[in-house]
Amino acid sequence: MHLRNCQKTNMEKASDAPKTPEDRPRLESPDKLPQTESDTSRAARRQMLSPQALQLMKLFEDSEFYLVGGAVRDILLGRTPNDEDFTTKLRAPEIEAKLADFKTFKEGKQFGTIAVLIDGKKLEITSYRRDGKYLDGRHPEQVEFSDSLIEDLSRRDFTINAMAMDSSGKIYDYFGGQEDLQAGIIRTVGTAEERFSEDYLRILRAFRFRAKLGFTFTEEIRGAVAKLGFCLEKISLERQASELLEIIKYQPELIEELLEYGLLDFLWPEFQAATDRLAAVGKLPSLYLKITGLLSQLDEQTAKLYLRRLFLEKELRQQIARLLVNINYQSYSDEELKNAVINSDLAYWEDLFLLAELGLLGAPDAEKIFAVKQQVQAYLARAHSLKELAISGRDLQLMGIESAKIGQILTAALVAVMSGNLENERVELLEYIRRDFSQPAT
Ligand code: ATP
Ligand code: MG
Repeated sequence: MHLRNCQKTNMEKASDAPKTPEDRPRLESPDKLPQTESDTSRAARRQMLSPQALQLMKLFEDSEFYLVGGAVRDILLGRTPNDEDFTTKLRAPEIEAKLADFKTFKEGKQFGTIAVLIDGKKLEITSYRRDGKYLDGRHPEQVEFSDSLIEDLSRRDFTINAMAMDSSGKIYDYFGGQEDLQAGIIRTVGTAEERFSEDYLRILRAFRFRAKLGFTFTEEIRGAVAKLGFCLEKISLERQASELLEIIKYQPELIEELLEYGLLDFLWPEFQAATDRLAAVGKLPSLYLKITGLLSQLDEQTAKLYLRRLFLEKELRQQIARLLVNINYQSYSDEELKNAVINSDLAYWEDLFLLAELGLLGAPDAEKIFAVKQQVQAYLARAHSLKELAISGRDLQLMGIESAKIGQILTAALVAVMSGNLENERVELLEYIRRDFSQPAT
């Protein structure tokens, strides 16, 4: 039980009257923005926009309409943006009117967001917003629209995410975002404690951007994380999971620090036992292997629970679950190994070998890994799925074998082929089955 409270008291709320953007530090007025920038750098930034984004910006050229958030950050870093989001002074009906010729999605309309599909690409447009008061540390009580770009930018979490760009490539940066990008610093727009108290998820988001960009935190953020980290408890599992996945994807080593701050205490406390494997996990080439590397040290039940708690897409979850089934393959008997190879492929085994070589499936024993590898490769070189077998269930039916036994007998034949005791050859296989399994038809 925590003695400190994650909710603000009424006293605090009163003294804390909603800040206008002008109250937030490091604010510069638009006319103080540097005017020295060359047209070439603007043009270079403009060129990083997708053709669809350019088309959209052209459509809105007579309105206040800007690229915003992560895409601006990424363009300034010379990276191709993940997704391109836009902010505008226009409200939903005006936005929709301009997009009459395109397919639009209105699920976010009550929050001011309209998505549009242009040439197969989905782009999101949101009216300028100011977030209403946050009372529960999770979501603003209500969404309020605004007429000011600065106000919209000031509600965003970090300075590097609080910039806009117009269609000429000009940057609108009122909170020192470019400076922080240059210096590699994650800094909140406004004071860290206040911004985290509005939405505790921002605590994990700070780690997520640090992981993604390799940046450092300001002292202020460190202090606020230490003070308010336990409040993450209030945030939905799904929102937390999506940030944790991003952290695992880019820099799983940060899990150690998340644990030190107690940020995983509620949902993923068992990762405590994984701290000595984080460096190895960081060397794995894909998110799915990184998650497997983190889960492979947990008992089966906890691994399954954590897999669910990460809210992965079905395909990814199944892929990981399939690997987890055989993480103990190094101690398999020959029979067990053969059974594990049935219906698998080389890519699957290469993933398991890599995990073992990095010491993520117990202490690495190079000789043992090499021996299993040779064995698996030999099995894989032979037929190793029922589909590849030179006979089928139909042949067994014609021999009068009961349907219920067909699968089992075919598998036995396949194992015999994998063992090298039998050629994958029709006549030989039929003879083997006739000899060992067939019963006279009744
Ligand atoms: P990525 O490229 O990894 O998607 P992103 O910056 O686009 O990064 P998103 O989570 O997609 O991150 O959010 C888009 C933008 O919305 C952010 O850049 C930020 O300006 C704003 N934002 C999102 N979530 C929050 C939040 N919880 N609090 C404040 N601003 C937020
Ligand atoms: Mg994004």
